[in-house]
Amino acid sequence: MTSPFKNRIGDAWIGDGDVTENINPSDLSDVVGLYARADAAQAADAIAAARAAFPSWSATTGQMRGDILERAAAEILARREELGELLAREEGKTLPEAMGEVARAGQIFRFFAAEAVRAAGEVVPSVRPGVSVEVTREPLGVIGLITPWNFPIAIPAWKIAPALAYGNCVVFKPAELVPGCAWALTEILVRAGLPAGVLNLVMGRGSVVGAAMLESPEVDAISFTGSVGTGRQVAERCVATMKKVQLEMGGKNPLIVLDDADLPAAVEAAVNGAFFSTGQRCTASSRLIVTEGIHDRFVAAVTARLERLTVGHALRKGTDIGPVVSQDQLEQDRRYIAIGQDEGARLAWGGGLVECDTKGFFLQPALFTETTNAMRINREEIFGPVASVVRVRDYEEALAAANDTAFGLAAGICTTSLKHASHFKRNAQAGMVMVNLPTAGVDYHVPFGGRKASSYGPREQGAYAANSTPPSRPPTSTPEPFPRQRRARPAPAPRDAWGRRTISPTLLP
Ligand code: ADP
Repeated sequence: MTSPFKNRIGDAWIGDGDVTENINPSDLSDVVGLYARADAAQAADAIAAARAAFPSWSATTGQMRGDILERAAAEILARREELGELLAREEGKTLPEAMGEVARAGQIFRFFAAEAVRAAGEVVPSVRPGVSVEVTREPLGVIGLITPWNFPIAIPAWKIAPALAYGNCVVFKPAELVPGCAWALTEILVRAGLPAGVLNLVMGRGSVVGAAMLESPEVDAISFTGSVGTGRQVAERCVATMKKVQLEMGGKNPLIVLDDADLPAAVEAAVNGAFFSTGQRCTASSRLIVTEGIHDRFVAAVTARLERLTVGHALRKGTDIGPVVSQDQLEQDRRYIAIGQDEGARLAWGGGLVECDTKGFFLQPALFTETTNAMRINREEIFGPVASVVRVRDYEEALAAANDTAFGLAAGICTTSLKHASHFKRNAQAGMVMVNLPTAGVDYHVPFGGRKASSYGPREQGAYAANSTPPSRPPTSTPEPFPRQRRARPAPAPRDAWGRRTISPTLLP
């Protein structure tokens, strides 16, 4: 039997015991690899290793931390195709989508490599005479990162990179379905020169490894992305142990299409936002809120576009939509399709299983029409290639429907009216608002996060990430130096198998 990919705890790769098979959702006969499954004791060891590494790591210069992150960035970008293939194989998004995600992870490490030397404070005059006040940021300590399966490298990147850049140590628990990218990323960072214990990888069950991280008094903060239900539990556990906490959870993102919209552009925004990455994005446009003057033309054009999309193996050329990630997720998607039909919505297109020459979780994108915003399919996050059209009279009714949700991650509007676009930007109750764009697809240098039940705590990404993992000030005394860093392998020039050099940012979260 091949030996499993192991967890990283302190300075060692550990785990010959419990293993899990990483299965390709495009081809259930394809085992991506065997991956060690950590237990609670190993999680405790990882936390202890991070704690032990913290005094030295937090006292390093931003230059040293930035150099390591830059080496990792260069390697990730150089290996974009190979890592993209691994990602597509274990998660099921298409190869171009996966390579775009890998490139984004590289860009994030590069961004935070530079941020590491930018840690600045403030000196302000005191209200007392003859006194001045220094405001500095300090590293927080040990950060526990709990990540989901839908962006197996970009989300870990945007949590790990700022945590490390600002002088913190990390215990990283990836989602059970996607250990491959997590392992590859950890291995790159270790080889880039991270000292022992600064980054620890504990692959395993949320209820075991995640729970151990939440309970430990040695973890200072948790950054979590996942479902609302788990997010609530994470928040409760963090408050009980007085940890700082950052939560990114679900969405039920509206895309409004007004009568005056450019129809082809609106159709592209809707199809991309709702169905690309198999609809498995928390920023997906799952509610298409359409005014009545354009409604029928919009539905006809979206349906015609869906007819031309190919659902299939994520690594095959010509596939537009890869498989659903797992059997459980497929069952959830199909359950919601049945719920929509029971609620009286019209299934205008898709929703059936797709046969391919490999056995996988292939589902036709599903478009519901004649829905109301009160239906469960419009209130609960499905997290699959399922979207609903809600017909409304005018902009005012569209805005009210858009905001009539417990969530508030992203919102979009397709219109040529400056008046309505401007009004929507100010009045959409969402963390991120798009105009004539899909709701999914964000930049890495600006804050990411939502309002209402979608997010809790400080924003992620860009310089705003400093608010959750504060940058350090330069050390005032000389710390124990770390041994000389090994040099990274020279990077091969990037290639793109599918001839797509520019990856559209709209393929990203
Ligand atoms: P999804 O339904 O998309 O898998 P989850 O919220 O269940 O989303 O999972 C997101 C992350 O949270 C995963 O890494 C998972 O292992 C972890 N997780 C799940 N349950 C718990 C828990 N009780 N405590 C800590 N982490 C958990």
